[in-house]
Amino acid sequence: MAADFEVLIVGGGVGGAALALALAHAHPVRVLVIERRPGPGNINRGDSLLPAVTRHLKSWGALDRFRAAGANPVSKMQVFHHQAGRLLEAPLVGPDGSPYLVLPHPEIERTLADAARATGRVEFRFKTSLRTLLQSDGRVRGARIVDGNGVEETVNARLVVGADGASSAVREQLDVPFLSVPYDTGYYIIELERPAAYEDAMRLDLHPDGAVMTMPQTRATVGAAVLVHPAQRALFQSGSTEAKLEAIWSRAPILEGMAAIPRGAHLYRLHRGHATRYVARGAALIGDAVHVTNPTAGQGMTMAIEDGAALAQKLAPLLATAESEARLDRGLAEYEQERRPVNRELVRWSHWMGRFFSEGGELGDEIRRRLFAFGMTPIGKAIHRTVWNRVATRKAS
Ligand SMILES: Cc1cc2nc3c(=O)[nH]c(=O)nc-3n(C[C@H](O)[C@H](O)[C@H](O)COP(=O)(O)OP(=O)(O)OC[C@H]3O[C@@H](n4cnc5c(N)ncnc54)[C@H](O)[C@@H]3O)c2cc1C
Repeated sequence: MAADFEVLIVGGGVGGAALALALAHAHPVRVLVIERRPGPGNINRGDSLLPAVTRHLKSWGALDRFRAAGANPVSKMQVFHHQAGRLLEAPLVGPDGSPYLVLPHPEIERTLADAARATGRVEFRFKTSLRTLLQSDGRVRGARIVDGNGVEETVNARLVVGADGASSAVREQLDVPFLSVPYDTGYYIIELERPAAYEDAMRLDLHPDGAVMTMPQTRATVGAAVLVHPAQRALFQSGSTEAKLEAIWSRAPILEGMAAIPRGAHLYRLHRGHATRYVARGAALIGDAVHVTNPTAGQGMTMAIEDGAALAQKLAPLLATAESEARLDRGLAEYEQERRPVNRELVRWSHWMGRFFSEGGELGDEIRRRLFAFGMTPIGKAIHRTVWNRVATRKAS
């Protein structure tokens, strides 16, 4: 049967939308994205577009669209200690000049989707979910999908991709095992008024109770991620806004007196896990569907977009020229061989970064304070460049 679309993507979050754009921006590939929500999300789930991502956005011709949507450059990171003051300041741009931009997560999803649609080859259907994958001769050849009115439809596609997040139904129907390990720590995500003294920087305030990471969002607001240990879980889950603010202000004195904007505030429970395979029966998986990371290193969204970029780079030329299934399978195997080792390292690295920031109470706080202060020495700056290269630029500097 002729395919209705070359590619059906299940899930229109950052990974699915980035994949659609990466596939269609330069090749005549028809893509359908189905997303069960009524539109781009409304919850803050990471808003940093690292240089590793802005480099892709530029190559897809979408960087200006992000700037027009309000993405702001952040050119440095600062680390403070609640008693010792400023410990470290370091640049954030990539070695090739790729910027570090910040945009709220829902706007990132919306802008990626708009850029994908602007190619004229990508269709998004919201309030539409996967019912079941269609398989014949051991291969996935499309899906039954269902819209918000309960109307079912068959979609035939040469390639089906699961970009449907941590509880991926595509992964489950492909029988790809996935073990998710919970952490006992979490992050409380909230927007706050922006202090007058706040610079355009990614800012970390160290404290024995747990660090507070803030990002400028607009001229008037900052987004904060507050590390939450089990002892404070009840406070950040069900305490009053006033009690939460008191705890945040004591950890990050610059925020003292700043009011909360509670819309979208939530306690984000942390997990890590990595699927054993990224492809099965001619279908592929990307993003949180195959890896869930501790967000301390801010990698989840970046990894999802990088997966989409790699899959499109391998598959788009083959889909555009109607190559054989055997050739598509080789492209899929190359995608898995390229991305899985890289992501395994990032899951591991994010895990140790998470441990570094969450362990040790007063002693851990002292160790972190000394290590970040060391970061201003020549050797410390070299180490910082190495770490930055690993988490954000991906290129040797
Ligand atoms: C509450 C929360 C807070 C987070 N905060 C941070 C953070 O602060 N920093 C950070 O780096 N990372 C954070 N993350 C992780 C980060 O958001 C993810 O790594 C990233 O969004 C992964 O992108 P994705 O497209 O693979 O998956 P997702 O963003 O999860 O997108 C998957 C999409 O698939 C859709 N979908 C699922 N099932 C179906 C179906 N059957 N049919 C149709 N559509 C379907 C979902 O509605 C969703 O839109 C957070 C995650 C969560 C859940």
